[in-house]
Amino acid sequence: MSTLSNSLHAADVAHSIHPYTNARLHEEQGPLIMTRGDGARVYDSEGKEYIEGLAGLWSVAVGFSEPRLREAAMKQMEELPYYHSFAHKANEPAIRLAEKLAEMTPDGLNRAFFTNSGSEANDTVIKMVWFMNNALGRPEKKKFLSRTKAYHGITVASGSLTGLPGNHRDFDLPIIPVTHLTCPHFWRNGAEGETEAEFTARLLTELEETIVAEGPDTIAAFIGEPVMGAGGVITPPQGYWPGVAEICAKYDILLVSDEVINGFGRLGARFGCEKYGFVPDIMVVSKQLTSSYMPLAAIMMNDKVYNAIADNTAKLGTFGHGYTTSGHPVSCAVALENLAILEERDLMGNAARLAPLFQEKLQALASHPLVGEARGVGLIGGLELVADKETKAAFEPAGSMAARVVKHAQEAGLICRNIYETVALCPPLMITEEDVEIIFARLTQALDQAADWAR
Ligand code: PLP
Repeated sequence: MSTLSNSLHAADVAHSIHPYTNARLHEEQGPLIMTRGDGARVYDSEGKEYIEGLAGLWSVAVGFSEPRLREAAMKQMEELPYYHSFAHKANEPAIRLAEKLAEMTPDGLNRAFFTNSGSEANDTVIKMVWFMNNALGRPEKKKFLSRTKAYHGITVASGSLTGLPGNHRDFDLPIIPVTHLTCPHFWRNGAEGETEAEFTARLLTELEETIVAEGPDTIAAFIGEPVMGAGGVITPPQGYWPGVAEICAKYDILLVSDEVINGFGRLGARFGCEKYGFVPDIMVVSKQLTSSYMPLAAIMMNDKVYNAIADNTAKLGTFGHGYTTSGHPVSCAVALENLAILEERDLMGNAARLAPLFQEKLQALASHPLVGEARGVGLIGGLELVADKETKAAFEPAGSMAARVVKHAQEAGLICRNIYETVALCPPLMITEEDVEIIFARLTQALDQAADWAR
């Protein structure tokens, strides 16, 4: 190891605590320090090259070395590095970005509120929905419906919407009124002999029965990721989303589409709600909005939500919510340039064009001895590993085999992510056909190595 790597390792181990990391294991093995990016590749402090199979954290659409984003940030830094948007203040990039998002997102989503992260955005959604229902004189209508394995962030409120045990355990969550419904994963949760259509019907019945049992007057909103990402890349069963939308409309329940991963072409369509044929009242975007070069998320809402909030601010004299960096001009300038690049280079179209090859390669791995299910859509995919293909039993200890595969992949120069039993892929939208071939060649090698070890 170089002297620089050595000293960085030591300093990291001595002074940092990492998200989603076993701190004691980290003290033993130290960090993998990334120092440079180039297109879909990243390089560690030893100069080793990796193809980024997860686009960082599902987010770097344009690749890791886009000069136009750097220049957009520099230009904004020179002109106006910071201004806030409290008390009627505004800045040009935030105004233009709100306008651009209103134009890009589905009809009716005309307003944007900016936060720094997806978690803060979902926290804001909760507060906006509560604020709205108090204003409308229905203070009982506060509960959220979410799903098991959902991921909506990690702050105390958004983390409550998340439906993963690892985000609740020992954090005393959930703390807001939320009901987690069955995860819409047909392969795992479909009953013996049940068809996909019957599974969908069962989930929709569960949704409606829950609403009726808890009382429609107590339920404010349903939140979901069109395709669940951090819960293990779970695609919805046929007809699920239009069914959910219909039931929400019937009981006057707001529908929130969390498109933090799905948005901007990931699924081969611009937005997940467009892909699955529903129109939400609120949509949350982040990640590919700036390719994560700068922190930013946006909550898009329709006029029904906006007007209820706006009327209440008129009554109370203010909207008592917002962040120092809401609508940060540098983040918004980077987002505008990033969206311009997505359009000029047709990167959403590139994802749609590469999707058949990507999904074919993914499906080819369904027959691998370690793989129980291969699932995905567009440029996102997951391989759920099983110890027994018949019973779908997981390896012991839970998640250990997926972790092993990801370790071997990393050795082979591919970064991907293990989520419990699933190995997830979500490469930058700008990848090439050749990159897809490389990703799957390295992943297959990693799976083979893990299978050899298990034998
Ligand atoms: N919502 C979804 C669907 C996500 O995938 C994530 C993060 O992965 C979040 C919310 C939280 O975003 P952040 O990590 O920016 O707080």
